[in-house]
Parts: sequence; C-alpha cells; structure tokens
Amino acid sequence: MARKMLVDEEMNQTNQEEAHYDFDLFVIGAGSGGVRAARFSANYGAKVGICELPFHPISSEVIGGVGGTCVIRGCVPKKILVYGAAFGSELEDARNYGWELNEKLDFNWKKLLHKKTDEIIRLNGIYKRLLSNAGVKLFEGEGKIVGPNEVEVTQLDGTKLSYSAKHILIATGSRAHRPPIPGQELGITSDEALSLEDLPKHAVVLGGGYIAVEFASIWRGLGANVDLFFRKELPLRGFDDEMRAVVARNLERRGINLHPQTNLTELIKTDNGIKVTTDHGEELIADVVLFATGRLPNSKRLNLEAVGVELDNTGAVKVDEYSRTRIPSVWAVGDVTNRMNLTPVALMEGTCFAKTVFGKEPSKPDYSHVPCAVFSIPPLSVVGLSEEQAIEQANGDVLVFTSTFNPMKNTVSGRQEKTVMKLVVDAETDKVLGASMCGPDAPEIMQGIAVALKCGATKAQFDSTVGIHPSAAEEFVTMRSVSRRITCRGKPKTNL
Ligand code: FAD
Repeated sequence: MARKMLVDEEMNQTNQEEAHYDFDLFVIGAGSGGVRAARFSANYGAKVGICELPFHPISSEVIGGVGGTCVIRGCVPKKILVYGAAFGSELEDARNYGWELNEKLDFNWKKLLHKKTDEIIRLNGIYKRLLSNAGVKLFEGEGKIVGPNEVEVTQLDGTKLSYSAKHILIATGSRAHRPPIPGQELGITSDEALSLEDLPKHAVVLGGGYIAVEFASIWRGLGANVDLFFRKELPLRGFDDEMRAVVARNLERRGINLHPQTNLTELIKTDNGIKVTTDHGEELIADVVLFATGRLPNSKRLNLEAVGVELDNTGAVKVDEYSRTRIPSVWAVGDVTNRMNLTPVALMEGTCFAKTVFGKEPSKPDYSHVPCAVFSIPPLSVVGLSEEQAIEQANGDVLVFTSTFNPMKNTVSGRQEKTVMKLVVDAETDKVLGASMCGPDAPEIMQGIAVALKCGATKAQFDSTVGIHPSAAEEFVTMRSVSRRITCRGKPKTNL
C-alpha cells in the first residue's frame, strides 16, 4: 500500500512537471533527422514542436527549408542531375542498338534545372504535410537554445517566440565550407552548383570526396570540360583503394582531367572567366569553380556552449551512444553530431531517439554495415570493410575475391568501361567482411548485399545462392577463385 502511494505520488509529480512544459519535445531543424525524430515522437503520443528556416534552394545561416539538405540541396537534386547527365552517354550507346539519332544531341539545361526545382518544392510540401499529419507544430524561424528546457525562435519579421520543452533535439545539419584562399568568394559550394542559371563550359572542382566526384561527373556528362583537383593520389579517401583507382580511371576515360596531389592557391576574376592558380604553378580559366572541400556542423548560432552543451573542435555536438548531450534534456542527431553524415544514418538516429525517449525502448544507432554510394557515372557502392580496413582489423588471413568484366550492355554499344566487383572475406570464419562494386546499378545491387552482410553471410552462402541471369549482380555469387590471400597485417596489394 505504501509503495502504491509512493508510485502515485511520483506519477503526479511527473504529470505536474510535464504539464508545466509547452512541449514534450522541441526540435531545431526540420531535415532528415529532425523530421524523422519529430514524427516518430509524435506517433508515440508526445506533444512536439519543430522550427525550420524559410525555404530557398541555396542555404545560408538564415535560409533553409523543411526537408533539409537531402531534399533541397543534397541527395535528391543531385541524383536528378546525375540521371540527366547519364542520358548523354546512354544516348550515344543507343546508336549501336539501332537508334537513329541526330549527329549532335542538344541539351536544355534550364529545362532540367526547372524540373529539379519543381521536384524539390513538391517534396518540401510533402515533408510539411508529413509533420502536420503527425500532429507536429511547425514554426518558421531560426531556433536557438536559451536554457536546458527553453528554446527561442526568431521569426522572419524579427519577432521572438519562446517555448519550454521537456526535451530539446538539435538537428541542424551541416554547411559547406570554403577553403581560405585569396579570391574564395569567386567560387561556389554544392548549394549554388545545384542551382546554376547556366551550365558551365569549363568547370574546376576542388575536393576529393564524393560530392566533388559527383559534380565532376554531372558536368562532364552534360558536356562541360572539367578539371578535378584533390590532395591525395586518388579521390575518395576512406574507400577501398582498388575501387578508388577504378573510379579515377573511369572519370579520366569519360574525359575529366584529374589533378592529384594538387591544391588551388588563388582565384582571380578576369574578362574571360575566373583565373585559377594551383600550387604546381598551373593556371587555367574556368567559368565555375566549385569548392567541395568538406562540411562543418551547423552549431555556431545555437547558443549551445552557453547552456553547457559540449562541442568538439569541428563544432560537432558531442553526444553519447543514445544521442544525448551532457545536458540531460538536450539531444542531437544527424550531421550536426558529425558521426556518419548520410541521410539514412540521420533517419536511424532520429528513430532511435524517439524510441529511447518516448517509446520506452532504449535504442542505440548501429553503425555497422551501413552501405553507401558515390553517384559518379558509373557509380561506386560499398558495404562493410574495405580491403585495407579488413587487413587492419583481421586476426587471421583475409581473402580477396575480385571480378572485372565487360558489362553485357557494352558488348553491343562498344563502350570501353569495365565493371569491377570485390568481396573481402575472413579466411578463418568465411564471413564476408566487405563488398564493393563500381559499375552500372551498383547502389541498387549493394542494398541487397548489405542485408546479407548484416545477417552475417559467409562466402559459402554467397556461393550457394543462385544468380539472376543475365545480370551483372550474379557475379557476386559466382566469384569462385581467390584473387589474393593476405596474411594479417600484410601489405594490401591491388591488381591494378
Ligand atoms: P539537414 O538535412 O541538413 O537538416 C538540417 C536542417 O536544420 C536544415 O533544413 C537547416 O535549414 C535547419 N537549420 C539549421 N539551423 C537552424 C536553426 N538555427 N533553426 C532552425 N532550423 C535550422 N547523403 C546520402 O545518404 N546520400 C547522398 O547521395 C547524399 N548526397 C549529398 C549530396 C550533397 C551535395 C550534400 C551536401 C549532402 C549529401 N548527403 C547525402 C548528405 C545528407 O544530405 C545529410 O547527411 C543529411 O541531410 C543530414 O540530415 P540532418 O537532418 O542531419 O541535416
């Protein structure tokens, strides 16, 4: 009886505390992570508010839009441009399949640009509806934290609204950063690159990451001259070295000028365009210079340090494995935490947050076997460990299976571009540790392979799976002979 009274008293106290807040949850930032966390929390019965900056395709500290980077200036518009760019070579390939096309193919950039913008406006509307259908209250304006349970939203007209919340979630994403070189204001970031009024004739891209490689592919695919500058020997640091070399070879064969181990030192405006100088003393003239040199967490204007939320030296919000900051009522998900900056990861973190805080089911995001893709033309996609990572982590030998082949479509089209696939296997347990593919449809194929790896599939299980014929994907289940066996801590070798 005494215990029951105590519990009733605790419950009353909790109810009174909760009644005292305007919201159970207030989310700052309505991108992938914020929208997912808001909707799922509301579905668990929480009273949720969310704020987001006003919409525009090009972001700034005070401009954004519901849907966030992925929908407005990231994955979606980029993929639309990749689709657009890929048609060029497909149409060329179609000639040998009997399609009679004019010698010169015309392309209308403005049409593609408008279609892209219409699509992101449509998605922005869908995201707003998703929030309202879930009962989430949306505020347009810039949010900041003014206390462990207090947020302030500055609206467009300068009016400030203040709300209390039992929990606050920071989901403000990241922002492209420009290198500090003279003339940097003449360059653009991926935001502007997705909304250029005119298609560049000569584009210079600085950066070796996936965004740099993708824009180089898009512009080259649409007919521009492209020079890609990056610091390392190969682009795509962090990916499997052998596959990086495959991507580099494909980019070059498609006509992109690669400048490894080269940086830009200065941009100067001239009558003919932007004069670009490199640290090798080269000079060239471009009409567009894209800086794809990394992104920084969007945490500067949130007043976080003042309320005791810790940031690392890049400005990323420090969180524990449940996405909680050192202030118990303040949480953070997505790019602003700089853990694994991908949309599906921000979604996973948002889902785990909602389950933990409102679903009575403590859940940690699981970063193992997260597949990803580089939408170069053709694309690269990977899951699990690269050969180098497998060697680094293995206790015993690592087996590497590779397959390099001419995709069937190319036999008739005459395109000279090999598809390369790779499986990295633990010799002792036979477990497949990593898979990669560079070739048409690689991301579509890799999603299925990711399920197999997540389930702990062995090479024997891959081998006993019946293929789909004729397809490129069937190569993943027919790689019978080992390309090389590497003794733990041995040096990675490649066939290239
Ligand atoms: P975001 O989606 O960036 O959302 C944060 C939101 O917070 C924004 O809408 C912003 O306006 C808002 N905001 C910021 N500050 C405030 C404030 N003070 N008040 C109110 N609102 C605020 N990932 C993939 O998985 N696949 C891809 O192919 C891919 N391609 C990409 C291509 C490009 C060019 C870029 C830039 C990114 C790409 N990404 C891709 C990464 C992906 O877009 C991000 O990882 C993802 O959007 C992160 O989600 P988020 O919720 O953390 O942040």
